[in-house]
Amino acid sequence: MLKINVGDVVKLRKMHPCGSNIWEITRTGIDIGLKCRGCGHRVMIPRTKFERVCKQVIGTVE
Ligand SMILES: [Zn+2]
Repeated sequence: MLKINVGDVVKLRKMHPCGSNIWEITRTGIDIGLKCRGCGHRVMIPRTKFERVCKQVIGTVE
């Protein structure tokens, strides 16, 4: 199981329409909250889906 925490920055397999595929974790649990680093758009996706689309955990935001 993927270990992620609020504030982690992740790269997803799918690109957001704004052209960024870098997202920040805003919430963890059954659903994962994500904020796009390109445009600030926020989404909530089920953890199972997140684990499929997550390509890489890049790091943690201070
Ligand atoms: Zn975006």
